[in-house]
Amino acid sequence: MRSSSTTKRSPAESKAIRDLEAVRKFVAPLAPPVASFEASIRSTPFRILVSVLLSARTQDPVTEKAAGRLFAEADTPGKMARLTEAEIARLIYPVGFFRTKARHILGICRILSAGNGVPSTLEGLLELPGIGRKSANLVLALAFARPAIAVDTHVFRISRRLGWAKGKTPVEVERELEALFPRKSWADVNQVLVGFGQTICRPLRPKCHACALRKTCPSAIVTRNA
Ligand code: SF4
Repeated sequence: MRSSSTTKRSPAESKAIRDLEAVRKFVAPLAPPVASFEASIRSTPFRILVSVLLSARTQDPVTEKAAGRLFAEADTPGKMARLTEAEIARLIYPVGFFRTKARHILGICRILSAGNGVPSTLEGLLELPGIGRKSANLVLALAFARPAIAVDTHVFRISRRLGWAKGKTPVEVERELEALFPRKSWADVNQVLVGFGQTICRPLRPKCHACALRKTCPSAIVTRNA
């Protein structure tokens, strides 16, 4: 694990850092949905936690509206815990798995309203219903500015396309990315790559012809014709 920005970097590490910065600048003017979503939830750790839970398997604009309806009705764990599961499900519909998420949100609110608020550790977050490793890392980065890499479908796919990682599981890719990037960049990896994946390096038919990394990406030719 890299601990200092002054540590000598390997060529692969330097290239990855340059690539990430190039993608950040390239994607920003494209205004990917994730930028609006993350701006909308940057308030309290509780709102970030619930919004991240809602966002699983759901498009960002849908999540944003569902979170808006839910928080207009109840904006604290205590108030939300007084809603019924059916009421929460109605408010968050049509996010994916809305009934399961309603149950998890109610469970989380009961735990939080009886305790010390949103946990700020990976272990604490993983104990909450419906919060897996990817979501926990995203909450750590967004709510607490902690160095954490949330490996979702975009991060997993693009890291492998760019040759940053070879891992077969999100946890393996997370470990490779942690070794590749300085800690101060960890939280940026998800935000930059999700926007990139929504606009250019899409799951199907990535726009290699228009990509800022097309000259150096090891997957450019293969995926251009996919
Ligand atoms: S060149 Fe194609 S595969 Fe490589 S990062 Fe760009 S869009 Fe993705």
